[in-house]
Amino acid sequence: MEKIFVRGLYFDNVTMAEALAFAEEAMNGKSPRLVFTPNAEIAQACVENEDIRSFIESADLLLPDGAGVVMASKILGTSLKEKVAGIDFAEGVLALSEILGKKVFFLGGKSNVAEMAKENLLRRYPDLIIVGTHDGYFEKTGAENDAVLHEINTSGAEVLFVCLGAPAQEKWLCENKEKLENIRLAAGLGGSLDVFAGVVKRAPKLFIKLKLEWFYRLIKEPRRIGRMMKLPKYILGAYREKAKNSLKN
Ligand code: UDP
Repeated sequence: MEKIFVRGLYFDNVTMAEALAFAEEAMNGKSPRLVFTPNAEIAQACVENEDIRSFIESADLLLPDGAGVVMASKILGTSLKEKVAGIDFAEGVLALSEILGKKVFFLGGKSNVAEMAKENLLRRYPDLIIVGTHDGYFEKTGAENDAVLHEINTSGAEVLFVCLGAPAQEKWLCENKEKLENIRLAAGLGGSLDVFAGVVKRAPKLFIKLKLEWFYRLIKEPRRIGRMMKLPKYILGAYREKAKNSLKN
């Protein structure tokens, strides 16, 4: 798969269909494959923090979740094909898992969120096999973490959604990948379980079309303002990099 280097990270230059083809191959494969979907906020966090970057870059498939990353790739003259939103990828993986009869486990969210997501999703995908759920508020090391791993491993799950927020979910997957016995595809999917549970609403289609999903989230959750300041920094950084490159040439 073609990779495109955008501000320190190699993104896979894929359409949603190609990302799902990778997911299908991974589900039928032998070793666990990790899919991460950083948006511009997290991508900027990677620019600022090498530890975060090293977790994120260990993905087997890195998808640009956010108009900001695609915009930065265009500014730098190496345009990514399209935004592949984590939540849309999650939806596609669930549809695939239902067709292929693969067992799914949801990890993350506040108490009951993963259960509510499961109930809602089973109404839409009646043949989907969700073999377990666990909230995301547990000690990420030691005995409590081992108990969560044991639960996932004994459930027989092959597909794992990890929704602990970024970069916690990517760090958790890097640290625990080797201990996941049956998992073939694991994805870090942020607040996706909140959306499937109906706790958080996704932006209306018009906002998505106008590339203003970030703005909708900001109105709904103004406390995100601090984190969201990373977005303009990321775009400005791309312009600065472009200017530097043209001075060199
Ligand atoms: N979360 C969790 N455990 C934690 C911290 C957060 O399960 O220790 C969950 C939280 O309940 C929410 C998700 O992680 O469901 C983070 O959602 P957010 O929309 O902030 O995702 P991001 O934008 O960071 O990808």
